[in-house]
Amino acid sequence: MLVVMDKSATPEQIQAVVEKIERLGMKAEPIPGGQRTSVCVLQNTGAVDPTIFAGMPGVMESIRVSKPFKLVSRETHRDDSEFDVSGVPVGGKNLTVIAGPCSVESYEQTLETAKAVKAAGAHMLRGGAFKPRTSPYSFQGLGEEGLKILARVREETGMPIVTEAIDHEVCDVVEEYADMIQIGTRNMQNYTLLRRAGRAKIPVLLKRGMSATYEEWLMAAEYIMSEGNRRVILCERGVRTFADHLRNTLDLSVVPFVQRITHLPVFVDPSHGAGNRDMVDALSFGAVAVGARGLIIEVHNNPPSAMSDGAQSLWPEQFAKLMKKLPRLAEVLAE
Ligand code: PEP
Ligand code: MN
Repeated sequence: MLVVMDKSATPEQIQAVVEKIERLGMKAEPIPGGQRTSVCVLQNTGAVDPTIFAGMPGVMESIRVSKPFKLVSRETHRDDSEFDVSGVPVGGKNLTVIAGPCSVESYEQTLETAKAVKAAGAHMLRGGAFKPRTSPYSFQGLGEEGLKILARVREETGMPIVTEAIDHEVCDVVEEYADMIQIGTRNMQNYTLLRRAGRAKIPVLLKRGMSATYEEWLMAAEYIMSEGNRRVILCERGVRTFADHLRNTLDLSVVPFVQRITHLPVFVDPSHGAGNRDMVDALSFGAVAVGARGLIIEVHNNPPSAMSDGAQSLWPEQFAKLMKKLPRLAEVLAE
């Protein structure tokens, strides 16, 4: 249920609606909009009677929300969400590019890569310090040392940093250093982590689980938002199918599909979709063409020496070439 307030509703009238919802044992979440505030009713066990709010001062109407997800739904927030990540605008009409190595390996490697991606026009720097690896024998990341390197590189370059939290415990230290928390495909349904990220003071980039339906993905975002964090980016990174010609099957059709249902910005990760650097350009163009609001791309200053995902990491020159073409494509699409 969504209680839509009049444009002229006062803060006291909104508060009265909130209190009424809470007295009935449910949770109220006011959602301020450009024109008016709506109050979303959460944690109701059955259908809520809309007449409860009829006649309350400042209430315009009560609308049933037909989807299981509420805060992420366009039904509760008509316009595309727009916010910033430490000053970098995200969502709306922006096309935001996050680039950097899969893993932070050293200060020199991270700085050299960061300088290259910044010069090419990337807006934010990515780099994993805590790595969720399929094998326990693979490089697991530098941990907090990696976060310190990212913070030093941010000082040098001015680029906000995006890095993964692999569980709710490391989320504390990730939040201390990062500008945005990444939740990886393997953790999309780690509900303790989702809730913790929902209490973070910084935005979250939520990758789609490799076998997740769109609804499971949006429900994961709902977990984050239900804890109060409104700044969530959805990121498609490829799913498992019978097709094995590439590392994953990048599900580009999900981008316009979920954008119809949710107001959250949808990004695409062509690198993990491809698994191979020669395919990254084509998938990036495809992502922009279907309306993605951003890309997260792996770039390494020397991919053959990378400690993870070297095969899919772009050389800096390849990334620079790609970045020259992307705005031109975006311009054609905006016509
Ligand atoms: C990554 O971004 O390096 C990563 C591990 O991504 P994913 O969770 O999509 O596999
Ligand atoms: Mn990677």
